[in-house]
Amino acid sequence: MRLAGKTILITAAGQGIGRASAIACAAEGARVFATDLNADLLDGLDGIETWPFDVTDAGAVAQTAERVGRLDGLFNCAGFVANGTILDLTDRDWAFSFDLNVTAMMRLTRACLPGMIARAAETGTASILNMASVASSVKGFPNRTAYGATKAAVIGLTKAIAADFITRGIRANAICPGTVDTPSLQDRINAYDDPVAARANFIARQPMGRLALAQEIAPLVVFLASDESAFVSGQSYVIDGGITI
Ligand code: NAD
Repeated sequence: MRLAGKTILITAAGQGIGRASAIACAAEGARVFATDLNADLLDGLDGIETWPFDVTDAGAVAQTAERVGRLDGLFNCAGFVANGTILDLTDRDWAFSFDLNVTAMMRLTRACLPGMIARAAETGTASILNMASVASSVKGFPNRTAYGATKAAVIGLTKAIAADFITRGIRANAICPGTVDTPSLQDRINAYDDPVAARANFIARQPMGRLALAQEIAPLVVFLASDESAFVSGQSYVIDGGITI
């Protein structure tokens, strides 16, 4: 049990990578708090404490931080994929992407960090995991202006936190997946005129010739939350089926 004795908060745990990670962390012995905007999606997470939580709601951020207390792990998974080039982008869409993908992450981390520092003083380490993407400072993709900019900001935010708090036992790392077969990806595929061709194009991005499963990202979450990664901080972990070879 690699996460025995650890308490971990996960956002956007109702489906996709967040849900797979909640299940994997619980299976490794962690006490998991799984939260999501949509409470219905949290059904079926047996043995895991769940509650609805909109990460863009500053009041809810403060309440959640108080409720969870001294965390060993915080996985900021919530995020939204906006399509389009810069010419398609409205100020409103840009602001929404930054609010959800970056500002909410900063706020929740800021609110939970004092408790995590206190926990790290007891145990030696506490771990922050931030969901970025290969579509970021790692690589440019067509039609991902707002998304790529926000996920690059996530990497910068992660490194800054890692640098500031490394001497106090806090580790912070970013996760950069390629294309993962999750409900929101399926929604985006369904929105194309030709969903079959769209799916083939998403698959073709990965030289491995397939999409990732959410269950293939979760083991990286477990590793980064566990003491097996105790000497790792400030890194962005690419897990992309070969996109960036
Ligand atoms: P998803 O997009 O299918 O599900 C997202 C979840 O986030 C939903 O359960 C939704 O209810 C929740 N959510 C939305 N707004 C929220 C809010 N304001 N507060 C709390 N929860 C909210 O899941 P996914 O595809 O696994 O994506 C999860 C994260 O992984 C995102 O940050 C995404 O950018 C990132 N990511 C996904 C892929 C991919 O190909 N799927 C690739 C790289 C990175």
